[in-house]
Amino acid sequence: MPSLTANWNYPTPIKFGPGRIAELPDVCRAAGIARPLFVTDAALAKLAIATDALKRLTDAGLGAALYADVKPNPSAANVIDGVAAYKKGGHDGVVAFGGGSALDAGKAIAFMSGQSRPLWDFEDVGDNWTRADPRGIAPTVAIATTAGTGSEVGRVSVITDEETHTKRLIFHPRIMPVTVIADPELTVGVPPHITAGTGMDALAHCLEAYCVDFYHPMADGIAIEGMRLIRHWLPVAYREGTNIEARAHMLTAATMGATAFQKGLGVVHSLAHPVGSLYGLHHGLLNGVLMPYVLRFNRPAIESKMDVLAQALGLPQSGFEGVAAWIDGLCREIAIPRTLAELGVDDSRAVEITRVALADPTAPTNPIPLEAAPVRALFLKALRG
Ligand code: NAD
Repeated sequence: MPSLTANWNYPTPIKFGPGRIAELPDVCRAAGIARPLFVTDAALAKLAIATDALKRLTDAGLGAALYADVKPNPSAANVIDGVAAYKKGGHDGVVAFGGGSALDAGKAIAFMSGQSRPLWDFEDVGDNWTRADPRGIAPTVAIATTAGTGSEVGRVSVITDEETHTKRLIFHPRIMPVTVIADPELTVGVPPHITAGTGMDALAHCLEAYCVDFYHPMADGIAIEGMRLIRHWLPVAYREGTNIEARAHMLTAATMGATAFQKGLGVVHSLAHPVGSLYGLHHGLLNGVLMPYVLRFNRPAIESKMDVLAQALGLPQSGFEGVAAWIDGLCREIAIPRTLAELGVDDSRAVEITRVALADPTAPTNPIPLEAAPVRALFLKALRG
């Protein structure tokens, strides 16, 4: 087994390995940040991993301050309040510390810190991103404390629009953090149910990106290796939270998922976004519940890809059936609920969910073109089993 410590420069500089959080002050200085705003969520702010990281910054003489008002599925208000705190404190960069919620909020705060237009003007539609003033984008150092979203290596922030109950993607190439610290020791305290949900998020990124019908062997290769890591290590990380090797491989797989999904995603995400924002549910957990249904829904378009995947993963059974059996078994092993109803979702908003799913930016890359009636039926199937 080679050392778990490494420096990577793809898709952004990543300092990977146990204990690398100790390098945070140096990383900030190298990024030109002397007064970081430390962005995290309220629950994490109370944990030693966060208080220790913040103390490292202040002990090193950096003018760090805490902004911990980030909600799960962060809202535009979280970003606006964070920008106000950033300006009031005279900050010159952001340390985004947490799961996808804190990372997305921190990245959006850094992005918006020097813009004159409102947040939604930068939604990932057409070339909206060119409206941004690049000089007004502050640097972000990202530190992931969950292994799922891969937001630490992404060029989007997912922000919830509370008026429309939709998740909107804010995109700019320079939202990408300037440096990532990927320290698996920070993830050992993630409780099993969040390990399961975030792990299924990483798997959804790899699987959906791989299934997109678009020539991109580089993304496909990353996605397949990400799935191989998840197959071996997600059940271990779930059972043995303190297993650093498992946590390290899952953290890597999460960054691989987000790297691969530059190719696109599919209807797992298109449905998880409206259901997550309407019912306030965990994104990765929803992806996990939806995945077995979506796999079968997409079957006619992905058979040959599943032949390759089953072989690459060394599954006991070949082809589509082999992949489906693996995912069903994984869901059982890590206690992913079988239906959306078990999470408290009902059919009262099926029409609205279908409409928002079809308009989601992930919908056009689903391997089967999406239409209202089949997507509604897919949602109802995932709801009831
Ligand atoms: P999260 O950030 O909402 O965190 C889930 C819970 O885990 C929180 O209560 C948090 O306090 C806790 N937690 C985090 N780290 C912990 C640790 N080390 N120990 C103990 N508890 C810890 O969940 P998430 O799944 O990481 O992120 C979900 C968000 O990311 C959603 O808003 C989703 O839409 C978004 N997302 C973004 C991207 C992207 O590319 N930017 C991709 C997928 C998902």
